[in-house]
Amino acid sequence: MDDKELKLIQNGKLNRWTIENSKELYGIPYWGKGFFDISEKGEVIATPIRGQEHQTISLMEIISGLKERGLDMPVLLRIENMLASQLSILHESFNDVIKQFNYRGQYRGVYPIKVNQQQQVIEEITRFGSRYHHGLEAGSKAELIIAISMINDPEACIICNGYKDEKFIDLALYAIKLGFKCFIVIEMLGELELVLRRAAALGISPRLGIRLKISSKAGGHWAESGGDRSLFGLNTSEIIAVVDRLKQEERIECLQLLHYHLGSQIPNIRDIRAGVAEACRYYTELVMEGAPMGYLDLGGGLAVDYDGSQTNFRCSRNYSLNEYCADVIEIVIASLDEKELPHPTIITESGRATVAYYSVLLFNILDVGRFDTHCIPDALSPDLHEMTQNLLEVYKSLNNKNIQEYYNDALYYKDEIQRLFRHGEISLRERSLCEAIFWNIINKIAKEANRTKQIPVELEGIDVALADIYYCNFSIFQSLPDSWAIEQLFPIMPLHRLNECPTRKATLADITCDSDGKIDRFIDLHDVRSTLPLHDIRSGEEYFLGVFLVGAYQETLGDLHNLLGDTTIVSVRMNDDGSYDFVREIEGDSIAEVLTYVEYDTKVLLNQFRQAAENAVREGRITGVERHKIMHAYESGLRGYTYYETGCSNHSDNSSS
Ligand code: PLP
Repeated sequence: MDDKELKLIQNGKLNRWTIENSKELYGIPYWGKGFFDISEKGEVIATPIRGQEHQTISLMEIISGLKERGLDMPVLLRIENMLASQLSILHESFNDVIKQFNYRGQYRGVYPIKVNQQQQVIEEITRFGSRYHHGLEAGSKAELIIAISMINDPEACIICNGYKDEKFIDLALYAIKLGFKCFIVIEMLGELELVLRRAAALGISPRLGIRLKISSKAGGHWAESGGDRSLFGLNTSEIIAVVDRLKQEERIECLQLLHYHLGSQIPNIRDIRAGVAEACRYYTELVMEGAPMGYLDLGGGLAVDYDGSQTNFRCSRNYSLNEYCADVIEIVIASLDEKELPHPTIITESGRATVAYYSVLLFNILDVGRFDTHCIPDALSPDLHEMTQNLLEVYKSLNNKNIQEYYNDALYYKDEIQRLFRHGEISLRERSLCEAIFWNIINKIAKEANRTKQIPVELEGIDVALADIYYCNFSIFQSLPDSWAIEQLFPIMPLHRLNECPTRKATLADITCDSDGKIDRFIDLHDVRSTLPLHDIRSGEEYFLGVFLVGAYQETLGDLHNLLGDTTIVSVRMNDDGSYDFVREIEGDSIAEVLTYVEYDTKVLLNQFRQAAENAVREGRITGVERHKIMHAYESGLRGYTYYETGCSNHSDNSSS
């Protein structure tokens, strides 16, 4: 729906607003992929289990449940079954295509721990994934420690990527000895000597892979992680050096896997196809060189269609999962059959597409900065300054033929009026009148601009200047770092009132009050919107929004800007009968916790403050009873949630000093 249609509906000129209008407006059928929808009641619902579409969970019902349990917003909601569904969809898509094309190898997925390392996520991936032998990718020693502790399936692969020191290599070798299907991927030539030395010292035969520095380049944010200039992987001469060295050591039988990673969020299937085709050539050559091989690891990159546009826009993807699987399998068959080589086990390290859907950030609106233009009084003093008169004239004679010219005039007069005020030539009252006239002009220009087909470049985005600001109870830096760092778009929408027409256009500001703590780019099927249609806030009623598809990368990259800590995390699991349980609750950081992260000793802080309070008692500025109350407030502050609390949080209690 375009802005004109929205306006007609808002003006009551089209049919009454229905949930169908909201679905279209917020694009939920396009990015929701069947996991999210809107109920008849006008609330966002989740359908976590594929094939059981009648079993839904209302996110507003979850919020009520959280409130009953004394949990404050913001909350990161994890819907467990969605992770299980995503894993099944991935494996079943590959397995279907394998059957369809008579592929003679297998598919094995591994989840890259870095995408969301939280214990619960890894536990669920290994638990749900065990029926598919889903493994883990470890990019560091810490991640390998997680992998070998959480996996208990000898068929599941563990892929060791990243820089490896002696301890990392030893741990990987011991994992092999213990029976894990663990691959040590050589990323840098120097690593090979260390692996050979440690393998000889420990008497363990290594299972080796090579990371290929692939020439194919992909579009999207992370293009640089692939291509000839990528930081990791071996070029052709280094690959030859590895092969020769292994042959010299009579260890060529250890080389079993070829890996590459084109980058994350690859929006264009053409790039994916090119990557697979190139990797197959290397794979074939390695087999011809005498390496047993058997595993082809295509890395990550399977994109998420965040805006639902199904295009090669960087926040989308122009292919379905089925197409991805079919293209991969087809290319591998074509390349290997040509040389009559056995089909390898195909591994993908899909992170984003596996976990993005699983988490939703829920938060409330704290306040609204409404953009309401003040009326220009009918009767104006005849003694107004000439510049004020000019500005008023612009307002009166503005029409759709002169918007650009009059916009320039209005800016000029506004600057002049500010100068006159600074020099004491006009009063505060007259300046305030001028401001009202100016914003009325901008409002009129925005309306005219919306009616014209070609908006002058300078006036593009004028809507944003007139949009309300909805102040949100969360930190972008903590919960949506990619929105700030790389302008990643996420679907954002109200969680309720979706059978009502949204009458306001808004941008969002977070609780940090940092000028970067804002969202003014929103998903749209054809473009990027600069404002989000929202409902007017009703007094005494809370208003809730959700940011969707935030399961990948956001938790890991979030930081403590303004000392706003981890949000509370709540997991729900849907049962077979359609009921659901709150299965886990991880309380968000308290203020005391975030203070210790930045090296404060809260006992020292408390003692210092207690001393200040005691001094105030001694000097007669407060009584002993007041000291008690003040200390209680301080201590309860330390225990409190770092976000805006509505007074019912679990964090605070009633103990006092
Ligand atoms: N594998 C490697 C080596 C990576 O560096 C990454 C992340 O960029 C991934 C897999 C995961 O990629 P994605 O989340 O796009 O699936």
